[in-house]
Amino acid sequence: MIFQPEFETMSRSAMEALQLQRLQETVAYVYERVPLYRQRLDEMGIGPGDIRSLEDIRKLPFTVKDDLRDNYPYGMFAVPMKDVVRIHASSGTTGRPTVVGYTQDDIEMWSTCVARLCAAGGATQEDIGQISFGYGLFTGALGLHFGLAKLGAAVVPISSGNTERQIQLMADFGSTVLVATPSYALYMAEVAEKMGMMDRIKLRVGLFGAEGSTEEMRAELERRWGIVATENYGMSELIGPGVSGECTEKCGMHINEDYFYCEIVNPDTGEPVEDGEWGELVVTPLHKQALPLLRYRTHDITRLLKGPCKCGRTTTRMQKIAGRSDDMLIIRGVNVFPSQIESVLVGMEGIGPHYEIVVTKKGFMDQIEVKVELIDAALLDAYKELEALTRKIHDRLKVVLQIDAKVTLVSPNTLKRFEGKAKRVTDLR
Ligand code: ADP
Ligand code: ZN
Repeated sequence: MIFQPEFETMSRSAMEALQLQRLQETVAYVYERVPLYRQRLDEMGIGPGDIRSLEDIRKLPFTVKDDLRDNYPYGMFAVPMKDVVRIHASSGTTGRPTVVGYTQDDIEMWSTCVARLCAAGGATQEDIGQISFGYGLFTGALGLHFGLAKLGAAVVPISSGNTERQIQLMADFGSTVLVATPSYALYMAEVAEKMGMMDRIKLRVGLFGAEGSTEEMRAELERRWGIVATENYGMSELIGPGVSGECTEKCGMHINEDYFYCEIVNPDTGEPVEDGEWGELVVTPLHKQALPLLRYRTHDITRLLKGPCKCGRTTTRMQKIAGRSDDMLIIRGVNVFPSQIESVLVGMEGIGPHYEIVVTKKGFMDQIEVKVELIDAALLDAYKELEALTRKIHDRLKVVLQIDAKVTLVSPNTLKRFEGKAKRVTDLR
């Protein structure tokens, strides 16, 4: 089902006209209301009247996470507090949290964006949606909560954690849609299997997001739960979830382009890349009131896929995120994304889908160690087989990464499990 065909199947020219109109409004709006932008635009000698085409967006300054941090907590808000009805914040694991605000209209727009993506992923008003994202300042849970509600589904706001109870209630309540991070969904599947509950579970759709995962991980999740799994993308600074999401064709995440203008730039130079090339995603929200932003640098690496989709939507899609420019590892000069390692490991015979990556330095040499769980603990005593499996993983990693990684096979169920976003890389350099 297409939730809002009038926007999701718009012709290219109508969409671009709408985007241009909203971009012009946004520039005028931030110039008027946000001192940081007025000052930056004045310094660059650019005024709202200079935006005459969508390409003119390149004249505008970028915004980075530090701008929000420097103006902590509310310095970039464009409305008085009386108009703000919700505040969220990012986890802040890397410094001060970034604080974001919403007006009532922003909440409406946000819910609509998420409802579109839930529908694209196969959810309907008949569904019972279990939200196993952690509720709180994190935008994921409430974002999906309001989106599924807007679609008309029944929402079960169970939050994350307490996994055995999650599974029990999933069966008892007859949940048909699961909202979670892919890593938590994987852990939940493991627990459901262990509890012998899979037969009683009615899930048919998985709406996953908030972190990356590979096609291999998707296949694993679909197989274990017996669902159709799609993923969606967003970040709190832009709105939360709801920027883009896959339809059931699974060929890239449809962007809510009437609300978010996406560019791809070279992460080092900030210059636009050629059409269809990979680079850093830069997003300008086109219709936000409380926290409008110009050209926000996401650090997420992707590329844009244009042209209509088999599902009937005409919106531009963005490809699965390859990684974040700031979590790309440079190992002995070679660029390595954790997602490349995941692709090799997940689904390989003899090992489970959980893994950890540890990077260290020995003298001047970077060392990378990949820890993987065995499915069968007995193998730990079978030296020859263990050796052969270790070599096989090592060799496959080498083909993909072009570097030698140390592979360590560990007992089943010994690596860390995650209830929210997974943290699989430890860089000790
Ligand atoms: P924080 O993690 O700082 O609390 P957010 O919850 O806003 O902040 O996280 C946003 C980030 O999550 C994105 O920039 C991106 O790196 C990651 N993310 C969200 N959805 C996806 C997805 N579908 N694929 C890959 N990464 C994602
Ligand atoms: Zn589609």
